[in-house]
Amino acid sequence: LPLAPSGTTPRRVLTIAGTDSGGGAGIQADSRTIALCGLHACVAVAAVTVQNTVGVSGFHEIPPAVVADQVRTVVSDIGIGAAKTGMLASTAIIEAVTDVCTEVGIGRGGSVPLVVDPVSASMHGDSLLHADALDALRTRLIPLATIVTPNLDEVRLLTGIDVEDEATARRAAEALHALGAQWAVVKGGHLRTSSSSTDLLFDGERMLEFTNPRIDTGNDHGGGDTLAAALACALAHGYAVPDAFEFAKEWVTKSLEAAYDLGHGHGPVSPLW
Ligand code: PLP
Repeated sequence: LPLAPSGTTPRRVLTIAGTDSGGGAGIQADSRTIALCGLHACVAVAAVTVQNTVGVSGFHEIPPAVVADQVRTVVSDIGIGAAKTGMLASTAIIEAVTDVCTEVGIGRGGSVPLVVDPVSASMHGDSLLHADALDALRTRLIPLATIVTPNLDEVRLLTGIDVEDEATARRAAEALHALGAQWAVVKGGHLRTSSSSTDLLFDGERMLEFTNPRIDTGNDHGGGDTLAAALACALAHGYAVPDAFEFAKEWVTKSLEAAYDLGHGHGPVSPLW
């Protein structure tokens, strides 16, 4: 991505998401990615998680009005080129975020592109979203998305489709798009059946395929966040969605190659190289 010349103001990306005390995923992954892409990260904290490299042992929700106020106050002063949502934890927070995004022009119908990463659980299976909040994701937030980027577990929760091969991946992309996002992504990186990682991108007409080598590493914590944050950076630079996705996928591949050990479990996908 083009870097702002030193001393000038870079473009801004706002992440609305949960923290990770281990510094691997969530807001920490987003901020790191946004900074390394050469943009300025603004953050609206929606939840605080208690976690390390082996799992999430709890989380605390920020009051919905405080989440919305963080968004409002950043947009009215700093201004943003794109926004990204991650862990939102509850129906009340999802509704507050949907309302404030609509109010300030983030997402479809507004001028600021919105990446919705519908975070529901960590790779260890620890819940990051109350079960009764899926409906709010489906009916309130996803219809506002420029692009929605679930992992395969989230695809199953949102559409009921178990992605196992190309045919089910295509069906899932169609079902996700039918929820109202402008573009839907089905990420194949967690399908361990091939040596490459193929993602599908669908906007109701075009079904685009992106294939990169699969990087096998145990240090894959925060991969989804990193993809969605890099995508938001490219959108903030005015890239069309397919070009932004190509950039983000390349970024994640490089970040997986550079991932490092930390603690006793899954280290972070890292763009520090
Ligand atoms: N913690 C937070 C706050 C997150 O937002 C996420 C993912 O989006 C995770 C943990 C889980 O990351 P992973 O599934 O890569 O372990």
